Amino acid sequence: MITMKFGGTSVGDIPRLQEVISIIQSHLAKQPVVVASAMGGVTDTLLETAQLAVQRESDQVENNVDALRERHLQAANALIRNEDRRKELIHSHSLLFDELLNIYNGVGLLRELSIRSLDAIASFGEILSCMQIAAILSDSGVPAQFVDARMLVRTDAHFGEAAVDFAVTNESIRSFLMPLVNANVVPVVTGFIGRTHDGLTTTLGRSGSDYTGSIVGAALGSEEIWIWTDVDGVMTADPRHVKGATVLPQISYREAAEMSYFGAKVIHPKTMLPAIENSIPIRIKNTFNPSHPGTLISRAANSTERVVKNVTSIDHLSLVAIEGNGMVGVPGISARIFSALARMHVNVMMISQASSEHNVCVVIPQKDRPKAVQELQSEFEADIARKIVDAIKVQDGVSIVAVVGEGMRGMPGIAGKTFSAVAQANVNVVAIAQGASELNISLVVEQPDARKAVQAIHDAFHLA
Ligand code: ADP
Ligand code: ASP
Ligand code: MG
Repeated sequence: MITMKFGGTSVGDIPRLQEVISIIQSHLAKQPVVVASAMGGVTDTLLETAQLAVQRESDQVENNVDALRERHLQAANALIRNEDRRKELIHSHSLLFDELLNIYNGVGLLRELSIRSLDAIASFGEILSCMQIAAILSDSGVPAQFVDARMLVRTDAHFGEAAVDFAVTNESIRSFLMPLVNANVVPVVTGFIGRTHDGLTTTLGRSGSDYTGSIVGAALGSEEIWIWTDVDGVMTADPRHVKGATVLPQISYREAAEMSYFGAKVIHPKTMLPAIENSIPIRIKNTFNPSHPGTLISRAANSTERVVKNVTSIDHLSLVAIEGNGMVGVPGISARIFSALARMHVNVMMISQASSEHNVCVVIPQKDRPKAVQELQSEFEADIARKIVDAIKVQDGVSIVAVVGEGMRGMPGIAGKTFSAVAQANVNVVAIAQGASELNISLVVEQPDARKAVQAIHDAFHLA
């Protein structure tokens, strides 16, 4: 059995959907379970429209919903020949669009848009898309069933990026999907969405369909999890920004997790977790080029290959430094910093402390900076008054550039080569960190320099 996840571009227009159907058809012997995203761009539109709704821009809200309606209608008309089946899908879609409009109206009336409402709104994308894929598959003679993942994926109530309750989820996935698979019906499961125990819709975070794919694949004990996307595999750098990026044939789970954590958008960072636990290989494949072998992500790193595998960058970050001569030798400062940030649900992307202990830096998403700094200020208020801590300094608009590869462990000179490449490109390094795992070196640079730094490092390690 195999689990196949199809991303937004892959299900985003009529020719792509045709390709997806033919990919599924050619792997029927493997008893595929399908997980799919919203059509490309739909989630963004749904969320942007929510902002318009709260501003009571009702004409624009209606226009956007009409455009979404039209886009799905065109796909249904083009790809479903059986009239009854086509009408049934169009009818189901139409009920969903009515419901969506009602939600937008409610948001406008109340002038209130919570993260909880945003999750409910975002969930429509995957539901519309997966209903459509199941109907098209059935129309092509492949028995298929739409599955709303909210019936399977149980989460906590951390809206926007909910945590999965695996005990409940794994059991539901198995008991609901196995009978379909055994009856040779292809389940088409919505990525990205889940539900709390009291029935509220949640999402797993942007790009979370990859994670759903791996949750489903692992729960079912699939042979492999295939993530179908719009590039040939995981590449040495983001192909949109770096000249000469090439496909990596094989990487380890840890490398994949590290790369994606630091911005390689091709796979969601949490995707590797369920797969690692069950030792299920993940394959990244291209719907535009299905015969390409893609990238295999598994336990083993391909050590015969390059030492440095990948250079990534992640933007829109802030550097927060807690400084003070009085901090030297005072135990517990770092612990207090992390507790304060954890209380505010702020994700610390990187930490760096100079050996003098006079300064601790954390890098966090810029959107979280106001609440983070406020909480740190109140945590250290007494220490600031007593001059143990001098100041909490902030630098917005920074990026982390990360160099990733298992082979870096114990290899001298990697850091040196990285920094001289960056220096030659005339990029100023604001802070650095190397994880104890030696799986990556990360540097903080000003955001406008990030691309230049990535390209320089990519060139220096001959990744092209
Ligand atoms: P999907 O809709 O299939 O989930 P995404 O847009 O989320 O696809 O991810 C695929 C995109 O990730 C690629 O088109 C590419 O531009 C981008 N990307 C960023 N970094 C990398 C990388 N290191 N390797 C491959 N693709 C990358
Ligand atoms: N549709 C969701 C998003 O755009 C989830 C996904 O595509 O993985 O974030
Ligand atoms: Mg994605």
